[in-house]
Amino acid sequence: MRKLALSDEILMKIEKPARYIGNELNSVMKNKDEIDIRFAMCFPDVYEIGMSHLGIQILYDMFNRRKDVWCERVYSPWIDLDKIMREQKIPLFALESQDPIRDFDFLGITIQYEMCYTNILQVIDLSGIPLHACDRTEDDPIVIGGGPCAYNPEPIAEFFDLFYIGEGETVYDELLDVYKANKASSGSRKDFLEKACQIEGIYVPAFYDVTYNEDGTIHEMYPTNEHAPVKVKKQVVMDVTNAPYPEAPVVPYIKVTQDRVVLEVQRGCIRGCRFCQAGQLYRPTRERSVETLKEYAYKMLKSTGHEEISLSSLSTSDYSELKELVSFLIEEFRGKGINISLPSLRIDAFSLDVMSKVQDIRKSSLTFAPEAGSQRMRNVINKGLTEEDIINGAGQAFEGGWNKVKLYFMLGLPEETEEDMEAIAVLADKVARRYYEIPKDQRNGKCQITASSSFFIPKPFTPFQWARMYTNEEYISRAAIVKHAFMEQLNRKSLRYNWHDAEVTVLEGVFARGDRKTARVIEEAYRLGCIYDSWTESFDNEKWMKAFKNTGIDLAFYNLRERDIDEVFPWDFIDIGVTKEFLKREWKRAMDGEVTPNCREKCSGCGAAGWGGGVCFESKN
Ligand code: SF4
Repeated sequence: MRKLALSDEILMKIEKPARYIGNELNSVMKNKDEIDIRFAMCFPDVYEIGMSHLGIQILYDMFNRRKDVWCERVYSPWIDLDKIMREQKIPLFALESQDPIRDFDFLGITIQYEMCYTNILQVIDLSGIPLHACDRTEDDPIVIGGGPCAYNPEPIAEFFDLFYIGEGETVYDELLDVYKANKASSGSRKDFLEKACQIEGIYVPAFYDVTYNEDGTIHEMYPTNEHAPVKVKKQVVMDVTNAPYPEAPVVPYIKVTQDRVVLEVQRGCIRGCRFCQAGQLYRPTRERSVETLKEYAYKMLKSTGHEEISLSSLSTSDYSELKELVSFLIEEFRGKGINISLPSLRIDAFSLDVMSKVQDIRKSSLTFAPEAGSQRMRNVINKGLTEEDIINGAGQAFEGGWNKVKLYFMLGLPEETEEDMEAIAVLADKVARRYYEIPKDQRNGKCQITASSSFFIPKPFTPFQWARMYTNEEYISRAAIVKHAFMEQLNRKSLRYNWHDAEVTVLEGVFARGDRKTARVIEEAYRLGCIYDSWTESFDNEKWMKAFKNTGIDLAFYNLRERDIDEVFPWDFIDIGVTKEFLKREWKRAMDGEVTPNCREKCSGCGAAGWGGGVCFESKN
């Protein structure tokens, strides 16, 4: 009988105890005496968020297909249990075996957003593992990081033994084989790291040094260990159709954020919006075959009992087999009470035909992301959308019976003027006006246009990586300009406008482009009690500002300055295929308000063709 790590007494008094007991449908149990490697796979946030992450399900399934590896899951304990565990010195444990994480060979942490950094320290700390890699002994698990934030790992470098840069399906087997052989030959921790750093895509921070210029910018980053490469090349799965995919994902006992079968239709995006990091990191675009996706739909609905399927990717409307896939899913499953959801649809690819089949018009609202109000700004960000596309797309939806539309925008973009800010309200009003062009007797009551804006954060490996940010006060004053403009609109009764919090934006901006020095702020904030910073109810800006003060790290240096075009970036040691020269060209084209065609219209020579497949080798229009 599996003994739970938490007593009944504790389980009875904490929120949602099902977060901590494991044993869910499709979770994998193995005999730990019959395996060589124990891998604890962690999403540093609460169970409901972590369980919804497709990447974790893919790696969990892939690792457990190996006979010699047992991969188990671990998530951040919520605040109530965190307190009890510290008071009663209960070590963090894995869900399957309920064993302490410190008994494992690896603690693998997926890093999806900067505001989870203090949770990473929480997980390492509660596991009884020293926070700093340099303080770890032969008995401590190897702490490995991956995911989008690993494309600038420097702010958290000192907390990790190594990083996996790129898609996990390519060299994880090789890494686990190297570890197993090293263990079998009684090799040391350092021996393993020296062998690991020779695997393409693996980065061992301890094997590099960084020197700085007087102004605080980076002078140079260079390997200090003879085995470590100068450049670390990202990992890409070119044949996504035949890559491992979880046909029996773990099904949670409690409601989680994404409670459905997720079909990843492709990786990458053909568009090239200049603010979008994923759009550059996951190049080139690679589609999964529609026949394979149909098979997965059958198998995954059967193995999970889920009642919904979601088609996921960065831009699902660009998936070339979308119509065939949606028609198949509707024919096969609609009659069986299975819902189909299509999250990311572009307004210029809005297909009334597809949408009306998958969505209940009465209940739902449609979401579109013009990102900028004026055509000038949409050209600067290379959104590739005209006002006509937006009005026509909304018009189709209204003709189709929808009367609620959400519009997403960003504020604080490079080159943004007051006129561009006001244009957000003007565009939203034009969308409402399009609705009221429909004869009254054919309308579906009053329309509601909800516009919301987040604040732009420059991210590594984007054409906007050189851009400056603004202060919290400056962001709020920009939102106020937009708010005021909404009050001036004709259809203001049908319009709503809201904006995101700017304090989190400012912090995220520091760590998105931070260097190794910023690790001190993260650790200090953690010591001051910061965790769950991506949750409004637990985010504490005062503690963060105190952490900057206590460590003397200058926030303005990281946010409030435009970078020199030749500045050395903390992430320049990573090769993602897309070249810095291409990004410089795109930065210049943004400043000139020039649009770059998408990959299917014309190749713009970003450098990703080097991988020898995907959209780069599709025949062009
Ligand atoms: S090489 Fe060309 S087609 Fe390929 S991803 Fe880059 S821009 Fe697109």
